[in-house]
Amino acid sequence: MTAAQQITDTIDRRDYIIVITGFILPPKYVQESDGPPGAVALARALNLAFEAKPILIIEEKSQEFLLKTLRAAKMRTTDIKELAQKETAVSLIDFPLNLNKAEEKAERILEKYSPAIIIAIEKPGKNSEGEYHTMRGLNITSFHAKVEPLIEKGNRQGILTVGIGDGGNEVGMGNIKRTVEEYVPFAKTCQCPCKGGIAAESRVSLLVTASISNWGAYGIEACLQAVTKKKGILHDPLIEESMLKSLFEAGAVNGVSCQNKPLVDGIPHNIHLSMINMLHTLICS
Ligand SMILES: [Zn+2]
Repeated sequence: MTAAQQITDTIDRRDYIIVITGFILPPKYVQESDGPPGAVALARALNLAFEAKPILIIEEKSQEFLLKTLRAAKMRTTDIKELAQKETAVSLIDFPLNLNKAEEKAERILEKYSPAIIIAIEKPGKNSEGEYHTMRGLNITSFHAKVEPLIEKGNRQGILTVGIGDGGNEVGMGNIKRTVEEYVPFAKTCQCPCKGGIAAESRVSLLVTASISNWGAYGIEACLQAVTKKKGILHDPLIEESMLKSLFEAGAVNGVSCQNKPLVDGIPHNIHLSMINMLHTLICS
């Protein structure tokens, strides 16, 4: 609710927003099923509620997964140069794996689009050594976009930055780093030579934690509907089912077993539909 309220207070009609996701898991190095549905659901909700212009960021390797999730949610994509003219569309861009290039790109994006809000959902965050890890403490640095420059520059420019995560190794978890280090396995000591642990360093204006990151996004969506009193902001179970199905068919992996099974963080898809149904009941009662 705090996130929904702050977003509503911050955003103006037709503002650009940035939504970042993408978590690639070993051993096959494939996108996991947590992240894209939440990112797409939030982009959709903010577009419907405020006519926001969402710029979605994901690693080039995972773009197809996000595109399929967008199509499942009936969201159109357009070139970023055309985004300002389109009523209901989003743009999809990749982001450098190299830190120096990421710094430059972050600078360019912020200058050109002046986003009102930057949201990172289920996005690997660097630890104190600048390395990125899975929950099991394996190093995945070379596979992931270095998005912290966007967050850090955004923070300095007074842009509202929101982090959504479920493990402690995601962008934004720096807000509660000491707690992550106390309770999360491998938080202090990873299994890679960096020895810095998986706890993420980056801080955001507002951190939303959830059992599953997608659910954190859905919670914000539901509260956006309650705050704005606009109908249809929270996506329905049909869209949820369609997003999950398209991701599993595309080969996305379950974040717990790292296998291509119809599960998000080990939870079968019926439970995710039930979560959406429950949120609808909560905000309508
Ligand atoms: Zn490490």
